[in-house]
Amino acid sequence: MAEQVDAPALDEVVTFTSDLIRIDTTNRGGGDCRERPAAEYAAARLAEAGVEPVLLERTEGRTNVVARIEGTDPSADALLLHGHLDVVPAAAADWSVHPFSGEIRDGVVWGRGAVDMKNMDAMILAVVRGWARQGVRPRRDIVVAFTADEEASAEDGSGFLADEHPELFDGCTEGVSESGAFTFHDGSGRQIYPIAAGERGTAWLKLTARGRAGHGSKVNRDNAVTHLAGAIARIGAHEWPLRLTPTVRAALTELAAIYGIETGLTDVDALLDKLGPAAALVEPTLRNSANPTMLDAGYKINVIPGEAVAHVDGRYMPGGEEEFRSTLDRLTGPDVDWEFHHREVALQSPVDSATFAGMRAAVEEFAPEGHVVPFCMSGGTDAKQFSRLGITGYGFTPLKLPDGYDYAAMFHGVDERVPVEALHFGVRVLDRFLRTA
Ligand SMILES: [Zn+2]
Repeated sequence: MAEQVDAPALDEVVTFTSDLIRIDTTNRGGGDCRERPAAEYAAARLAEAGVEPVLLERTEGRTNVVARIEGTDPSADALLLHGHLDVVPAAAADWSVHPFSGEIRDGVVWGRGAVDMKNMDAMILAVVRGWARQGVRPRRDIVVAFTADEEASAEDGSGFLADEHPELFDGCTEGVSESGAFTFHDGSGRQIYPIAAGERGTAWLKLTARGRAGHGSKVNRDNAVTHLAGAIARIGAHEWPLRLTPTVRAALTELAAIYGIETGLTDVDALLDKLGPAAALVEPTLRNSANPTMLDAGYKINVIPGEAVAHVDGRYMPGGEEEFRSTLDRLTGPDVDWEFHHREVALQSPVDSATFAGMRAAVEEFAPEGHVVPFCMSGGTDAKQFSRLGITGYGFTPLKLPDGYDYAAMFHGVDERVPVEALHFGVRVLDRFLRTA
């Protein structure tokens, strides 16, 4: 049996990335998206490899694809491999190339979704098809899912699949998807590959202050705008306490070892200082956060409104939800009510699992100069929805990136693009990991 991907897989990952980018699956929210052509494309590529995909829709045009590749060990837990098919909008006028051209120029594939995450969709397809050519069967069952609606509510995508079609994921205990195992250059020659093992929870809040409406020239000690402004100012200024989760603790410990820092975790601020640019890998996930983002009150300058409303983008650490709730109760005070406008769970995945070790080994084999560390994602992915099925999520979309390539800026950014070499690395590493998983 061949030990690694064949040459056609390297060509296909590039072609598939480009083809998928050309299928415009812009998700504008509010149901304004149509993933079906991309889903049919992915399903056709799987079918050509002898895999039988099913297409599932909750809403017409919002298509998901699920397929199962049977492993050789029926007693082994299944592994879910998933990628979303939708992308965020792109304004063509801002781009150097048309965002839906999928153009390949100077060894780089350009377009919306090149990184988030048609690249991974293409890698999954390339690996599965390579196995069909080579007669490879994985040990575990591998369930492949291409989802709709990740960039909005997931209600037509992973949420729908988890709620309405759990049987498709029978036996799955772990899932792998965006985003991790990319090259983080620290500016002084070190290359770090962070693999995600956790996500902060989402707590989008609506704040409502109520007071006594009246004339703007009168004394009013019960002004809704004043109440709201006080709460917003307190939330914005709040310094959330450090809350080290197991993943972040492991990240700090491993980073300290890479840099030979002996400060330990007793003084995290000092440790972050010494880490320099690499501190960015942990800084957004050391604590809960809450940022006021929208304000709405009043309709005329001489009228005190009876109500004022604000929205806050809150995120909480795994295990940090109770602290988040009680802190918000305190910061908003008696004159302002708050409620969840949208809420998503936080995820915490073990970093001492065989699966994490397998991902680490696969990266180290193809990037021996790199250092793998776990990290926690500051935002969220489809893994939150699949967690309802008891599936633990990891972020693993391997990409070997050149120094100066601003990976973080590519997500939802202008001129999103991915080097062909990075896709080749990705398909090699994903293939290696999945063969040994
Ligand atoms: Zn994404």
